[in-house]
Amino acid sequence: MKYIAPRSLGLSLTRARFSTLCATLPGGLTPSGRGTQTSWLSGKLKLDINTPSPTFSSLTTHSFSSLQHRYYCQMCRHATTGGSSTMYVSTFCRNETNTGSKNASQNRSKRHRDSNCSPKRANSYRGNCMLFFLWPFLVFPQWTLAGNSTQLILSVPSDRQVLPTNVKPTKYDVTMEPNFSTFKFDGSIKIDLDVKEDTHTVTVNSLEIEIHSAKIAGQDAASTTFDEDKQSATFTFAEELKAGTTAQLELTFTGVLNDKMAGFYRSTYQENGETKYLATTQMEPTDCRRAFPCFDEPALKAVFDITLISDEKLTCLSNMDVKSEKKLAGGKKAVSFNSTPLMSTYLVAFVIGELNYIETDAYRVPIRVYTTPGLEEQGRFSLDLAAKTLAFFDKTFGIDYPLPKMDMIAIHDFSAGAMENWGLVTYRVVDLLLDPKTSSLSTQQRVAEVVQHELAHQWFGNLVTMDWWEGLWLNEGFATWMSWYSCNQFYPDWKVWEQYVTDSLQSALSLDALRASHPIEVPVKRADEINQIFDAISYAKGSSLLKMISRWLGEEVFIKGVANYLKKHKYSNTQTGDLWKALSEASGKDVVKVMDVWTKKIGYPVVSVTEKDNELTVKQNRYLTTGDVKPEEDETIYPVFLGLRTAAGIDESVVLDSREKTLTLDDASFFKINGDQAGVYRTNYTPERWVKLGEAGRQGLLSVEDRAGLVADAGALCVSGYSSTTNLLSLVSGWKQEQSFVVWDEIITRITSLRAAFLFEDVETRDALKALTRALISEKAHVLGWEFKETDGFLEQQLKALVFAAAVGAKDEELVAVAQDLFQKYVAGDKSAVHPNIRASVFSTVAATGGAEEYDQIYHIYHNAISVDEKITALRTLGRFEQPELIQKTLNILLDSSIVKAQDVYIPMQGLRSHSAGIEALWTWMQANWDEIYKLLPPGLSMLGSVVQICTSGFSSEEKKEEIRAYFATKSTKGFDQGLTQSLDSIQSKANWIKRDSASIKEWLTTNGYKK
Ligand SMILES: [Zn+2]
Repeated sequence: MKYIAPRSLGLSLTRARFSTLCATLPGGLTPSGRGTQTSWLSGKLKLDINTPSPTFSSLTTHSFSSLQHRYYCQMCRHATTGGSSTMYVSTFCRNETNTGSKNASQNRSKRHRDSNCSPKRANSYRGNCMLFFLWPFLVFPQWTLAGNSTQLILSVPSDRQVLPTNVKPTKYDVTMEPNFSTFKFDGSIKIDLDVKEDTHTVTVNSLEIEIHSAKIAGQDAASTTFDEDKQSATFTFAEELKAGTTAQLELTFTGVLNDKMAGFYRSTYQENGETKYLATTQMEPTDCRRAFPCFDEPALKAVFDITLISDEKLTCLSNMDVKSEKKLAGGKKAVSFNSTPLMSTYLVAFVIGELNYIETDAYRVPIRVYTTPGLEEQGRFSLDLAAKTLAFFDKTFGIDYPLPKMDMIAIHDFSAGAMENWGLVTYRVVDLLLDPKTSSLSTQQRVAEVVQHELAHQWFGNLVTMDWWEGLWLNEGFATWMSWYSCNQFYPDWKVWEQYVTDSLQSALSLDALRASHPIEVPVKRADEINQIFDAISYAKGSSLLKMISRWLGEEVFIKGVANYLKKHKYSNTQTGDLWKALSEASGKDVVKVMDVWTKKIGYPVVSVTEKDNELTVKQNRYLTTGDVKPEEDETIYPVFLGLRTAAGIDESVVLDSREKTLTLDDASFFKINGDQAGVYRTNYTPERWVKLGEAGRQGLLSVEDRAGLVADAGALCVSGYSSTTNLLSLVSGWKQEQSFVVWDEIITRITSLRAAFLFEDVETRDALKALTRALISEKAHVLGWEFKETDGFLEQQLKALVFAAAVGAKDEELVAVAQDLFQKYVAGDKSAVHPNIRASVFSTVAATGGAEEYDQIYHIYHNAISVDEKITALRTLGRFEQPELIQKTLNILLDSSIVKAQDVYIPMQGLRSHSAGIEALWTWMQANWDEIYKLLPPGLSMLGSVVQICTSGFSSEEKKEEIRAYFATKSTKGFDQGLTQSLDSIQSKANWIKRDSASIKEWLTTNGYKK
């Protein structure tokens, strides 16, 4: 799935595009879980082992009626489980319990790689948890609490909410018929099961589905019970199902064709003033259970035979190609699709609607882009790219794309960016369709990235799938990395790896610098927790670590390892360790040792460099944006690739794998740590070295990635107080001659962050910061101009658009007048007057300086846009008007889905969040409309967290932080607790920043002539 990046959520103002916002799990997440739902398992149990310890081979079985437990091996988290009435006892894999060894913990991970600890599906916990705490002592009475010999620390297992393992599905035969007048659907399903244990019950996941009948071999279920919390239904049969046999469960049911963008749902669009409907699906992560009762876990792969019943005029699509089509009475038809390969429920897809398509035969199998009528030609860019990309991945992975077709479809209501359903990829309209003539370059780049991301998943994710949601990061991190990798192949002039440093890497570093971050491999248990890990940690930190490892191993070796991994595990499920194993084999390097720390521990380090003659001392400590790391939070030693750049080039061999190290250079007059910014950490230097690095940047001794990375590090370190803000200001004010778009992007982002933090401060300082921005970029903006020629390169155009936007944003009077003039020509009918690359900044300028008349003009553009790109820009601009009555007008349409689709609700909010009056108004509005917002965006959707963040994170004072905290103290924050915590962290960090550096910043602005 492609999430909507914080950057596109408009949270960019504080990352320095984000610096202190963003998502995740509160409070030093422990393996035993977080929040109230799992409090029964919090904490660790220290056990003292004196005598031979438990292994799987000496597994002891105890009976506890009606109890089911699952245990995790402590090293690899493989789960083992008890049966329906049996409780197995062991928390370690075989090979795991090397009692007596002083180095047991060090040896564990090594042994684990080769251990044959085979995961079984985990069971959900039922019954009294105290029994769980007691069992080790019942079974191994020699174990005592505390002691003096080797201690193994048992984290008490987490409670994944999963189905019983008494049966296993092998094949689904599903028939679905949506009704566009009642917004319900009827369904019937036959599920072939392998019976694993003697049993009378079958439990499936089912949510908001009314089940009419349940049968096995013609025999009706004696009873059906529902568990709302576990989102499951259990059927009990009088006759026992015998282990080793097969059975077929037959169900009929009715569900809701909902408007929640989850499960089987309806999407709406307008055609000639008429509202039309389309039925579509979004199953990931756990909404297949809203479409049909199923075993909704990624490891339970099965074959799917899907039949759709619809009006004969409509188009029916699913993962596979059509097997047969049958006419039915009443002008209907039944379309049956060929059997899928073995796949997970979250990848099932079907769509019914009025659709047109364009097709290419440039690839081995047909590729089509489907849209509602009239939009199909806008899919040309993605269609052609898909053909190239699939061919490239066939070759790169050495495995041919296994399905007989690839359909990509634009959906008008879509909660994520796109979804990689096997053979039928669904997209948000803006992430698939574009008209190159009317779309900005950044839109083209985003579309290219999303398409390649989804297609990479066809192998990594669909063919080989994580065995549980803890592996999500690998799925998403890899697709993210791969999309940049293939973008670099197809569009070398975009220099995407340079942009990576200011994009994904900074998103990762920003979010992971919060105390409320989480380790990349995070235990998730319940359906409503899973949505919250579709965040920058999974996507951006995941891909940044893969980038780091690919540089260490070499890209070719990395790809070879990945290809071996895909070949070995195709059509099955894996855990993270399986990839490390394949990479270790391909490279001969100990990948596990390096990656274990990076993926299992929260955060990352700041490397501080001190100098004495030619000796450098480098020291690592945990980095937090709030700058207040406690000793107990600073215990991890990360393997840090120092990438030492000197005049001789980059030395990739130096690794800081201890707290501190001293390096001796032949000549320390020039050096930089983290050459090409390939590592996932920040570097802090002495004030003198910052000055020298600024000079080195001017002399051309540093790469684009190095220069952008230095600005980013200086910017982040001053927010957290590791370095003074004046170091950042001095560094960037010396780089007015900088030529690179990427470096400028980072400079402007960091200055914008500073301005955002000071948004509620005195007007003189705010004006001085604008003056500083003008001093940096106005000259460049005037020289480059605002006309875009065919002959301009990609990065040249991007730079032009960027500095124009920054100049008008800082109130460069001449350019503001230009923007107003261009806009008037545009509304007078000259649609080519405003080039798409500067459309957003022209519209924003008009909003910031205009009134009711301009508001109406933008509103008109929104309703009559020439492209999706323009429509979204106009919608965002509505929020940028600063007059109270216009702010109110925008707020009034937010919850009116006839004007703003629920999927787009955050877009005008982004506009509002860009100015102080809008930030205040959003917060007041959110409190007044909370119940309605909550209804529109249920917590299962990740959008609620984003909306809460946008509505709260713009503030920068402790008083506001307290006010927000107090407001939510009495509410359930399930589903958005991460977003809220990160917002509060963000506000606190800005408050600290202002308190700490306000005086020195003002003094610097005065000394340098920006402040009177
Ligand atoms: Zn994805």
